[in-house]
Amino acid sequence: MQMAKKFIFITGGVVSSLGKGLLSASIGMLLENQGMKVAMLKFDPYLNVDPGTMNPFQHGEVYVTDDGAETDLDLGHYYRFTSSPLSKVSNTTSGKIYDTIISRERRGDYLGNTVQVIPHVTDEIKAAIVAGSEQEKGIDVVLVEIGGTVGDIESQPFMEAIRQFRLEHPKDCINIHLSYVPYLKAAGEVKTKPTQHSVQALRSIGIFPDLILCRSESPLGLAVREKISLFCSVPKECVLELIDLKETIYELPLHLTDQNLDKLLCSLLNLSCKKGNLTDWKKLVEKIKHPKQTLKLGLVGKYITHQDAYKSVCEALYHAGAVCETKVDIHGIESGQLEKNLSLDGCDGYLVPGGFGERGWEGKIAIAKLCREKKIPYFGICLGMQVMVVEFARNVLKLNKANSTEMDPDTPNPIISLLTEQEQIKNLGGTMRLGAYPCHLKSSSKAHAAYGETKISERHRHRYEFNNTYKKRCEENGLLITGTYSKEDLCEIVEMANHPWMVGVQFHPEFKSKLTAPHPLFVAFVQAMLKEKKGG
Ligand code: GLN
Repeated sequence: MQMAKKFIFITGGVVSSLGKGLLSASIGMLLENQGMKVAMLKFDPYLNVDPGTMNPFQHGEVYVTDDGAETDLDLGHYYRFTSSPLSKVSNTTSGKIYDTIISRERRGDYLGNTVQVIPHVTDEIKAAIVAGSEQEKGIDVVLVEIGGTVGDIESQPFMEAIRQFRLEHPKDCINIHLSYVPYLKAAGEVKTKPTQHSVQALRSIGIFPDLILCRSESPLGLAVREKISLFCSVPKECVLELIDLKETIYELPLHLTDQNLDKLLCSLLNLSCKKGNLTDWKKLVEKIKHPKQTLKLGLVGKYITHQDAYKSVCEALYHAGAVCETKVDIHGIESGQLEKNLSLDGCDGYLVPGGFGERGWEGKIAIAKLCREKKIPYFGICLGMQVMVVEFARNVLKLNKANSTEMDPDTPNPIISLLTEQEQIKNLGGTMRLGAYPCHLKSSSKAHAAYGETKISERHRHRYEFNNTYKKRCEENGLLITGTYSKEDLCEIVEMANHPWMVGVQFHPEFKSKLTAPHPLFVAFVQAMLKEKKGG
């Protein structure tokens, strides 16, 4: 007989940005290490239907799934730490819930009843939990991370829904609360009061945490944990610490198993506990902590001051670095500044990630020119590929006004442009080529050498495409098209001939890189930088 599905709800208190996403991902990983099949869900209380239209300065990266959902960046953590299915049902926002309810109300589906937060909104949230648990066969444990902080007005329906859910499945749910325990320098001690208050806030709405994780700068000590246990009514062995990990976030699951979190989870959920095996993971963490060499990588974008805007790109670089026993020092270069002053600080290679809009565009073109001329490794992702193509058209094909129609709709040489069938699109939300597309690789290309196969699948998020009118001229002059989506003859990969490694991809490989399975293109890029650094 299959055991009943188990549900873990993860809430946060005191302040945001405590690392709830990473904690959830690590818990998922520890459960998989116990032989469980997990599904990870993220509920975001904001009113946007999805984060697709949100400014990266406010929201960080938009993570795209195979089925084309534009989701919260925490799903990237889930991908990197677990094998959870990730799809449209994995990320639910208040906007999405209300959108469904209001459309239903307009159709008259509620048969004249008053539509209310309880039960209609909470029912819809509970239905989303169930949908997440049924997206694949054999899911044992569903982890539901609730975005925001307890006490926020907008998260209340989600809190209420998880309270009801536990009432309906009393034996199969647990609540984990992540709190913050600050160190007050003036008093010379850590303070537990904010944690006490956030647990009180939770309990006042009927949610009683089973485990409390305390984020703090340094270890808490038994006395502090006992105090939290007493005031928050949680056994002291269920008060754990989550200290700042200075070297790598990939140490988090190890830090948690050291405190027996896996055993505690199994006992709270009534699951039999196995020994588990984290040996391979530990080896990788050691590689990250003890690199043999360092590379300096220039990341050229307009959101570099926001640490989460290029999250998956940075993680993919660290993964590739780990396998090559190399520390990849990421050096953010603000593309807008580059337009005024091309000071480059001598990086071993440059990566131009995805992006939208004109600001910083010419600065990125300048970087591509420098990399092409000086034969410095260059990796262009999505917009970064378009940059590479436009630079080539202007400076090699001598079409000096060539551009993407995103930047100049009237360019005489629209080498990057919208597909005709897309030209009527007016709304900004949900109008892009999104999600996984197959790509065929040309044998003996750099991409083929990296992947080691000719058929791959990668995820997209863009509107503009390479314009095939220019294909022949590009190839004749040294810009090779080495990957295509054959069904619609769309260019997916370009490579510079006679260059150590200058590759642009229209898709986002960073979404599919893990520490245990670094993405082949990122590995090839890091290897190329190492080779060039050692003198080619
Ligand atoms: N702005 C470009 C486009 O829409 C690139 C998008 C991206 O880099 N994700 O095609």
